[in-house]
Amino acid sequence: MKITASITENISSVRHQIARYAEAAGRSPEEVLLLAVSKTQGPEQVREAFAAGQRDFGENYVQEALAKIATLPLPQIIWHFIGPIQSNKTREIAEHFDWVHSVDRIKIAERLSAQRPADKLPLNVCVQVNLSNEDSKSGFALAEVESACANISRLSNLRLRGLMAIPAPCEDYEQQRRVFRSLAELLHSLQSIHPTLDTLSIGMSGDFDAAIAEGSTIVRVGSAIFGARS
Ligand SMILES: *Cc1c(COP(=O)(O)O)cnc(C)c1O
Repeated sequence: MKITASITENISSVRHQIARYAEAAGRSPEEVLLLAVSKTQGPEQVREAFAAGQRDFGENYVQEALAKIATLPLPQIIWHFIGPIQSNKTREIAEHFDWVHSVDRIKIAERLSAQRPADKLPLNVCVQVNLSNEDSKSGFALAEVESACANISRLSNLRLRGLMAIPAPCEDYEQQRRVFRSLAELLHSLQSIHPTLDTLSIGMSGDFDAAIAEGSTIVRVGSAIFGARS
């Protein structure tokens, strides 16, 4: 009996699932980007995923990510920062990443824009939204997102791309879809004001089927690719 599949096999199987869920929702599989969440994984694991054709990687911890990025001088990799952001880490994030999904305060957005190197394209950012309204979770409340987008869209070295959320874990598929739908509807209502908004960063290993059904354009998948984190 085979106990563990390889990273290569897992990527292939996740890609097939993405395609299946997209088609079931009447969407094209190309509309959904697979972001491989490589937090806690070493450079070898990233290399194996890269060899399997994976190009977008997500990291949560700045120091861990910088060490990995330095060990892997592969210009084809697109690095996404998806973790909580402390203000004293914004410079390193602005210098080394292509995307930030976890902008949860205007002050953080202002620092990222001010610290983005002049020779780089604007940093792609998503506004993190707290869908569960738990005090412990970071992110803007739904009612604050419109003004956050207005403020961020004025920052010249950022490109406002979308909304991101990490809903409280939930086993029920219909409930997962309801929560994701509230974010998708908010995105649609903001797209007429902010034409650069084209990204819905929702869905992890346990709920990316529901997220794709509700319009996810980036699924952030860790354990289904790299195995359970210890
Ligand atoms: C860890 C993490 C993921 C991936 O979670 P899995 O359940 O392992 O797929 C996605 N998004 C964020 C923000 C994370 O921190």
